[in-house]
Amino acid sequence: MLDSLDTTQDDLHGGRAPWGRGFRPPRHAHLSQSIKTDVLVVGGGITGSLAAQHLAARGVDVTVVDREQPGLGSTAASTAMLQWEIDCTLGELTEFYGFDRAAAVYRRSVAAVQGLSSLAGTLGFDCAFRPRSTLYIAAGDIGPAALQEEYLLRERAGLPGTLLDQAELLSRFGIDRAAAILSPGSADADPLLLSWGLLRDAAARGARVIDAMVTAYHDAPGTVTVETDGPFVVEARHVILATGYVMPDFVRSDIHRTAASWAMATIPQVSGNLWPGGELIWEASENYNYARTTVDGRIIIGGGDDDTVDPAARDRKMPQKTAELVDSLVKLWPAANPTIAFSWSGAFGETDDGLPLIGAVPGMPRILAAYGYGGNGITFSFMAAHILAELCAGHREGWFDAFAIDRPPPGG
Ligand SMILES: Cc1cc2nc3c(=O)[nH]c(=O)nc-3n(C[C@H](O)[C@H](O)[C@H](O)COP(=O)(O)OP(=O)(O)OC[C@H]3O[C@@H](n4cnc5c(N)ncnc54)[C@H](O)[C@@H]3O)c2cc1C
Repeated sequence: MLDSLDTTQDDLHGGRAPWGRGFRPPRHAHLSQSIKTDVLVVGGGITGSLAAQHLAARGVDVTVVDREQPGLGSTAASTAMLQWEIDCTLGELTEFYGFDRAAAVYRRSVAAVQGLSSLAGTLGFDCAFRPRSTLYIAAGDIGPAALQEEYLLRERAGLPGTLLDQAELLSRFGIDRAAAILSPGSADADPLLLSWGLLRDAAARGARVIDAMVTAYHDAPGTVTVETDGPFVVEARHVILATGYVMPDFVRSDIHRTAASWAMATIPQVSGNLWPGGELIWEASENYNYARTTVDGRIIIGGGDDDTVDPAARDRKMPQKTAELVDSLVKLWPAANPTIAFSWSGAFGETDDGLPLIGAVPGMPRILAAYGYGGNGITFSFMAAHILAELCAGHREGWFDAFAIDRPPPGG
């Protein structure tokens, strides 16, 4: 696990991603006195920004603290494929939890991307947000039969999508794989601009954005007192932990582990050299590669995940992992100009069932966690903002349990 006090944003990623260029982070003020707030959000990345914006829009008195520049943690390393398809297939999730619960989770995920899209549309700031379809393509041991099985389950769950055979995939998209599921309803964006825009919107609605490091939490009936690295404290009715892959020690989960991931972006491709609709492409294998395009015509490809936790060891692997990504890109899209413009690495988090950790920290009902994680981190962060706002307002719904921090390992 990454140490919660010592891990810096520089430990969370290495190299450089193409996001936020030419833009500046939102302003955050120093904590110059002890304050009281309704909800304190710890962490100003995409998770904290979504939570703060949602709470502020509901009229809640909210304060965000970040010990470094908001957004420049894992959010700045994200490839920001905003998908409703979860790292665990509907088939796998059905094996873990039964069809009804698995299908309900998938439908919540569809609704989360829809909600995120309509929020981005309503707020209207520049974050390169684009509705996208996804292509989930056969890879490794997962061939046409397995994709058909997954497709039929999705159809039964009322999820949108079409099964493509090899010939149709090749003729419509120029991609030579044995089969694919084409699904509408996802999106992509510049994650840093999305996060900064949300935080600015929250601030415009009255949220305070403060530069401070939280060092300790004291949970008492009715209030949580939070110590900071300065002489001042923050008292809140609820605290939302949105500290990304750096979790305080008192948050324990048997199903979560830290890993590492790598990505690269090419130079802008010449006109006409991208697949037709800029679909988000991801492979149906366990350690999958994925690819997207950007508004300025680049191809981003990522993957190569492994269980490296040490940041220096992760970054030492960057040349080798980038070379492997170039190889994968050329196989996936032979027309690509694979010249590398950006390459980067990042800490990554996974859970056994591909689902996030959202809800009250066990034994601490006023401290709530918003840990998105996995390939759908941002989709799940949107979901977290809504679930946690309801919990802060004293409303609980049964479906929240699917994401509980102390849920047992699937099948355990
Ligand atoms: C290479 C890579 C590719 C990815 N691709 C995708 C993708 O395509 N789609 C997707 O949905 N997700 C993806 N993810 C996951 C996604 O990026 C993460 O889920 C998301 O960025 C997490 O955001 P966050 O706000 O929770 O964390 P962060 O952005 O890390 O923000 C946490 C903030 O908390 C602050 N903080 C921590 N501790 C304290 C403290 N004690 N006091 C004050 N502040 C504190 C930090 O300074 C930091 O700014 C990817 C991740 C990586 C690394």
